[in-house]
Amino acid sequence: MWKFTRCKACRSFSVVNGCSEGREFIHNLKQGYYKQISVLTGAGLSTDAGIPDYRSPDTGLYSILEKEYGMKSPTDIFQLSIFYRNPQLFYGYLKKINFDMFHPTLSHYFIGFLEAKGILCVNFTQNIDGLELRAGISREKLVTAHGDVTRAHCPSCDKEYDIEELKRKAMNDQIMYCDTCPDVPIKPRIVFFGEMLPDEFHEKSSLLSEKSDCGLIIGTSLQVAPFNGLPILYPTITQLVVINNEPLDHIPRTSASSLYYKGNCDSIVQEIIKECEWEKDFNDFRESIDS
Ligand SMILES: [Zn+2]
Repeated sequence: MWKFTRCKACRSFSVVNGCSEGREFIHNLKQGYYKQISVLTGAGLSTDAGIPDYRSPDTGLYSILEKEYGMKSPTDIFQLSIFYRNPQLFYGYLKKINFDMFHPTLSHYFIGFLEAKGILCVNFTQNIDGLELRAGISREKLVTAHGDVTRAHCPSCDKEYDIEELKRKAMNDQIMYCDTCPDVPIKPRIVFFGEMLPDEFHEKSSLLSEKSDCGLIIGTSLQVAPFNGLPILYPTITQLVVINNEPLDHIPRTSASSLYYKGNCDSIVQEIIKECEWEKDFNDFRESIDS
């Protein structure tokens, strides 16, 4: 096991470009030394966008379900067997949370910007909100490890359905059923307990070991398996950078040089953009995506 420690030179956790390792990373990034940057993202990005997380004591989804709906096991909402028996439960959640009303964060756009610059290898995310796609990240470069709410399918035969139609049904307190599977309700293509991870999770994880030369871990403490096994596939990566509120002490050691920036994702990413003198290009990119 290893620990992300303070910079050897300046003992700093969080000042981008404030130490020799930080300066080297910024220099390499700015000069285009990294050609295949892979990015692992998690709940930190979504909560920054205002989307409630699952497990926070008062504001998390499970806590709300417990308090407002009196649910004893709020994780039931994502149990496939319960979804088959009582789809109203999950449809009620869909009706309540409208992901369209949230906007991507600066960190989301930064990943889209890396793709536009031609240096994004892949973005693995644990988030299901699909904000990556609205920040200019293409479906080809994105792996939504736990699925996402931008598509719908039948959990039995896997036939694709129109997500907008599913949302309309949920808003009208109706359940959408599969045309071919009797009594099987349609759900967004998010991974419920009891479901397999999407094939692309396994297929594209080889990119990390075979192609990527720089890894960024943004807004995740990597607590959930198998996602937290991904970084050990990083032997070829020359630089690993963690941007998160807490260190990742539990992650196995890799051969990569590591930097740990402690704090809010957007503030640190903003600082990286500034240090690389990419502000104008980044703002132009962001405007082009939003228009
Ligand atoms: Zn079906």
